[in-house]
Amino acid sequence: MNQKHKFETNAIRNQLKRSENLEHSVPLYLTSSFVFEDAEDMRASFAEEKERNIYSRYSNPNSSEFISKVCQMEGAEEGFAFASGMAAVFSTLAALLDSGDHVISARSIFGSTHSLFQNFFPKWNISHSYFDTNDLDTLEPLITPKTKLIYAETPTNPGVDILDMEVLGQMAKKHNLILVIDNCFASPYLQQPIKFGADLVIHSGTKLMDGQGRVLAGITVGTRELMDKVYRFSRITGPALSPFNAWVLSKSLETLAVRVDRHCENALKLAYYLEGHAKVNWVKYPFLKSHPKHHIAKKQMKAGGCVVAFEVKGGLTAGKTFFDSIQLLSLSANLGDSRSIVTHPASTTHSKLSVKERQESGITEGMVRISVGLEHIDDIIADISQALG
Ligand SMILES: *Cc1c(COP(=O)(O)O)cnc(C)c1O
Repeated sequence: MNQKHKFETNAIRNQLKRSENLEHSVPLYLTSSFVFEDAEDMRASFAEEKERNIYSRYSNPNSSEFISKVCQMEGAEEGFAFASGMAAVFSTLAALLDSGDHVISARSIFGSTHSLFQNFFPKWNISHSYFDTNDLDTLEPLITPKTKLIYAETPTNPGVDILDMEVLGQMAKKHNLILVIDNCFASPYLQQPIKFGADLVIHSGTKLMDGQGRVLAGITVGTRELMDKVYRFSRITGPALSPFNAWVLSKSLETLAVRVDRHCENALKLAYYLEGHAKVNWVKYPFLKSHPKHHIAKKQMKAGGCVVAFEVKGGLTAGKTFFDSIQLLSLSANLGDSRSIVTHPASTTHSKLSVKERQESGITEGMVRISVGLEHIDDIIADISQALG
């Protein structure tokens, strides 16, 4: 690792040592286990007296390279790579929380994470409270002697609300709580939550990191102390990322900066276009001046990200007509892909929530989420324009 180089250079040049074949691009280590020199080597390796690969459920050169890149990007000490973003969320929280613990989370979080808090953690006597995503003053009164952790995403999915990470960091520090930020919507290129006081950062590598809709992946990075707990739990329970997917992701990270720059440029242009459209009720994008937390987005993000949310005039029926009229863009559930994707959160990703819960999370029935891709912006706008027409 080289701290004197810039983000883009490190993303490309931080790679595994070359093998005796002197390959230029990193090879794929598709192996489940590794061999030992002799009995003493094996004993010392299992006793963790040596840092080396033993078995790919614990570590593998490809996942280590991926982890090392993300740690460098996020300014983190250690990390662990998972088979999906949700495996990262679940394993991280399960490793850190004990029966009786209490979590305080922003109300607007990824649907499956919400379901984890709501439907599964209570089985292990882990409770939660939600604070208002748009009013951080509602957080502190929820803290009890049992509270151990604060959980949040920014920008949020799908409403692209922005939370002030500096305030969250100060709150966590003041009450000695662990701050976990899901940084998936921004990617480490746009913001680094550790700078603002996060202890752990989680990503779904499936989104902007892969960026081409090919692999599922997740990663958690943060302090050595907390990541050691996450590692101990994960090497036993087995949510590890496959070497192949890690290899794909390490290559993807080499182009993260250029891809995300273009995603953001296209998204901002689309947001401006929608803002001036007669058939649109409202548009939300962090780098639009009309976004209620625009000044905070500017403080903590390099650009606004790939997701634009808006509402078609005419509610659910008009929303449906809009979806059925889309020709070029994909109707799909992913985001951060090179292909632009249109989603209707109320009937898909957040359909398991009640109407009231959706309202509290800022998801209206006619709301549309667009993950703006890398196609030419003129073609993206043309498709949306004809569908609105
Ligand atoms: C997609 C997503 C996840 C879950 O990631 P998977 O790779 O689909 O398991 C978690 N958090 C956010 C914000 C996401 O968008």
